[in-house]
Amino acid sequence: MSWITHLFSKRGKAGQPSIPQLFFTNTLSGERELFISQKPREVLMYTCGPTMYGTAHIGNLRAYIVSNTVARALISAGYRVRQVVNITDFGHLLSEGDTGEDKMTKGLKREGLALSLENMRALAEKYTAIFLQDLEEVGIDIDKITFPRASDYVPEQIAFIKTLEQKGYAYRTKSGVYFDTSRPIHYGKLGGINKNDQQESPRLKSREEKRNPSDFVLWKPDNHLGWQSPWGLGFPGWHIECSAMSRALLGQEIDIHMGGQDLIPIHHNNEIAQSEAASGRTFVHYWMHNAFLTMGGEKASKSLGNVVYMSDVIEKGFHPLALRYFFLQAHYRTPLSFSFDALASAASALDRLWKTSKEIKEESGGKGEMSEATTRFLATIRDDLATPQAIGILWDSLKSEEYTPEQKWRLIEEADAHLGLSLISPPTNELTETDIPEEVKKMLDAREIARKSKDFKEADRIRDEIASCGYRVEDGLDGPMLTRRL
Ligand code: AMP
Ligand code: ZN
Repeated sequence: MSWITHLFSKRGKAGQPSIPQLFFTNTLSGERELFISQKPREVLMYTCGPTMYGTAHIGNLRAYIVSNTVARALISAGYRVRQVVNITDFGHLLSEGDTGEDKMTKGLKREGLALSLENMRALAEKYTAIFLQDLEEVGIDIDKITFPRASDYVPEQIAFIKTLEQKGYAYRTKSGVYFDTSRPIHYGKLGGINKNDQQESPRLKSREEKRNPSDFVLWKPDNHLGWQSPWGLGFPGWHIECSAMSRALLGQEIDIHMGGQDLIPIHHNNEIAQSEAASGRTFVHYWMHNAFLTMGGEKASKSLGNVVYMSDVIEKGFHPLALRYFFLQAHYRTPLSFSFDALASAASALDRLWKTSKEIKEESGGKGEMSEATTRFLATIRDDLATPQAIGILWDSLKSEEYTPEQKWRLIEEADAHLGLSLISPPTNELTETDIPEEVKKMLDAREIARKSKDFKEADRIRDEIASCGYRVEDGLDGPMLTRRL
């Protein structure tokens, strides 16, 4: 039986519409698998959130756009989705690989703030506000997601470590409490482990105290800073926060856990080890990982200094949804290389899509009718989120004369629900005074001076310069009018 004929499952109870089938690539098996939720019609989903020591970059945003696209596909199929994205708002005085300098400490130093729990929290809240705004701008409804702060869940993290100790999975050394990775029968279920990855820096001199190189810290004592615990003052290890918050908010067994592929070898293997050791149950049924956004062939990351922020995208005059369109043009498991030229192509494609949607809305009067094009679109997106192919189907069908405006409108409605590109009510390109960047205002003034002195060559040059910033100037009866180039 082909996957198209597989589309509608027979699992619906009498009276309830049946849930269509979805397939996701599960990192546990490396295979594309049929998705079956643990509870009927409900999906429990956890995505590892960013460490809020600075502004999240557009590479980070790829991870959340992917998990939002998964959530959209599930919701449209008829599931209720409970989604958690954690906010890491304190350091662990260790980096994520348990080596090198802690990111939050670095962030405090950068902003000239003293090392304290209050300052860590304040720093994190400042960047969390920017992060949440960025998410909204790329079409993510943040009210549908819970964003727990790690610092609000320290008692849960301590309780979790105690359970691991009681069950014999943790041991104490002078440098902290460690998880014993030789105990679980299947440590490293997700693969990708490099035994040296979790070694601490020689500065910490704790390597020799670990029983196995892959053992990782659960509690890190500190003489000055942190929370009180049975192991003295200190900090929970980096991995325990996700296990503890996932259990506190979603329960011991969840359906989907997501994150970027860099989290597989250490963080996610460690989360599985801790959670399954504590509960004796399967922690996560489907692990899904997005590939990187790259810049010039390398992973975009702050430590490499090759990052772009949402503010850069907006400053250049792009609509934030152009970034979403750009991401959706690639499959989530494929690395994607960023450039502003590529973003500009995505922006102009989205602009055309918005115009086409407006026309079809008028022609159809906003009435939709099911067609084979919509069935194909849905089957494609439900097949491991094949967004590039789904966008291809959308374009081909909208251009085709085979479909009526009503059939096209129905396709647009489904595309909008799945892709989150504001196709139903495209944004207008009108700008208010506050939307216009200062440098563009200066260019406009300079162009007016050139025009008034009849230096049209210079005026045209400035118009092109304004256009390269993403704006269009048109000269009306009341003077120049500026619009955003959608
Ligand atoms: P971090 O704050 O580094 O923990 O990152 C937050 C999320 O963004 C994690 O799921 C990372 O795997 C993901 N991430 C970080 N950099 C990139 C990138 N360049 N491309 C895609 N995802 C990324
Ligand atoms: Zn995590």
